[in-house]
Amino acid sequence: MKTSATETIFAAWARLPGGWARSVRLTVAAGRFASVEPDQRPGPGDIRVDTALPGLVNAHSHAFQRALVARSEAPAQAAPGEFAGGDDVGSAVRSPRVDSFWSWREAMYDLAARMSPDALRVVARQLYAELLAGGYTSVVEFHYLFAAEPGEPGSRRGARVMMEAVAQAARDVGIRLIWVPVLYAYSGFGDAPPGPGQRPFVLAEDDYVAHLEEAMELEGALCRVGAGVHSLRAASMDMTQRVAAWARGKGRPMHIHIAEQPAEIEACLKATGQRPVSFLLAEARPDASWCLVHATHMDASERDMLAATGAAVCVCPTTEANLGDGLFGLAPWLAARAPLAIGSDSQVGTNAYDELRWLEYGQRLASGTRNVASHAEGQGRGAARCRPTADVLFDAVLRGGHRAAGLGGETERIGLVAGAAADLVAFRDEAARFAGHADASRLSALVFSATPPRADRVMTAGRWVLAEGACPGLAALRLSEFGSMMDSWFQA
Ligand SMILES: [Zn+2]
Repeated sequence: MKTSATETIFAAWARLPGGWARSVRLTVAAGRFASVEPDQRPGPGDIRVDTALPGLVNAHSHAFQRALVARSEAPAQAAPGEFAGGDDVGSAVRSPRVDSFWSWREAMYDLAARMSPDALRVVARQLYAELLAGGYTSVVEFHYLFAAEPGEPGSRRGARVMMEAVAQAARDVGIRLIWVPVLYAYSGFGDAPPGPGQRPFVLAEDDYVAHLEEAMELEGALCRVGAGVHSLRAASMDMTQRVAAWARGKGRPMHIHIAEQPAEIEACLKATGQRPVSFLLAEARPDASWCLVHATHMDASERDMLAATGAAVCVCPTTEANLGDGLFGLAPWLAARAPLAIGSDSQVGTNAYDELRWLEYGQRLASGTRNVASHAEGQGRGAARCRPTADVLFDAVLRGGHRAAGLGGETERIGLVAGAAADLVAFRDEAARFAGHADASRLSALVFSATPPRADRVMTAGRWVLAEGACPGLAALRLSEFGSMMDSWFQA
């Protein structure tokens, strides 16, 4: 990977915080933009790109699930009742027997049971290269697979070797990693003991905290640590409070899956008398350091109360569609100016721009209206002040993603601006995609064109990690590793 003390990029078009600018020179030094100046002429040593944008944060990823993509798209062969796996999810899961999130989860458990650290490194490397090409420069790895070897239960040693595997994959590819190991203790509300498929996920709380402390020693410019619990059903409220206190004390982000599936709402109501977000608000008092992943099924009062805390919500549109989760109520969240992030979650989608497209499309399908995000942001401003939907969504998840990853303090500069981390994604001027698109619709051409755009060049923290569509960090590695492993796992 190319690294130099100072480098200058000349972009024909660049998406700056105030909108598109042309003929922009960006000087990079010590991993940050030293200057960003529009209306310039290119210098002799400049790296020239066509269309440059800030890199986005993928705020929710389970890297190992990349190996399950497109492998659960036919009904699972299971007998009625077989998917429950415990009492955690309530009667809605067991009858009638249909393919659902819960049957997919069984396939995911089977995959988790065969994931060694070496296998995870191979899968994560493949995924992270795809994420760079898809417009992401940072990834929040929400991790709960702590077995040192397949068949073993979770352990502190397992947590360490899994982190090393993922961190190595991130270094090989050059993506910024936010390592968020999460506590997983139970199979359901009421401290239900974990099922056999969940053994690799379970860590004793002391071991979990020891792992967090150990992980912080491995931090660097491209690796940060956050904390979390898997979900309200997988950790007690006492545990959730203690993990949150640890995160708050260290100034780290705190992540949790919440309100993804109706059966989870039902189980939480039965156990606590409250819906999940209400229960969390009352007992754990989330603040701006929190990221609630999914938050699909909130009622209006939960949504308004959560928006007032400053916590981010991370939606994962392609995964939520693939798993049949339901739709996040986007319009009121955007109207409240509450932080929003996106994540690739199960990895059925690895392109940030495609994720934004489906975020908006879900709302259109449900509401029978168009430009939902644009109208939501423009509420109270009058139609004349509405910005294009793609611009509204891009700016929201750029800010919200950094916030969710713990990279975006109030004073932190984000995007293509002097002082910000030099995270940049550049696209070639494909004639058909950009033909005739100037400032007003250039971002729409990236989000709403039929084919998701693939980056030509990507820079993370001042280093080129993708050049001419290829990952220099992967050139020296065996590129066929992922394919060979999948063949041996699934074609045997
Ligand atoms: Zn998830």
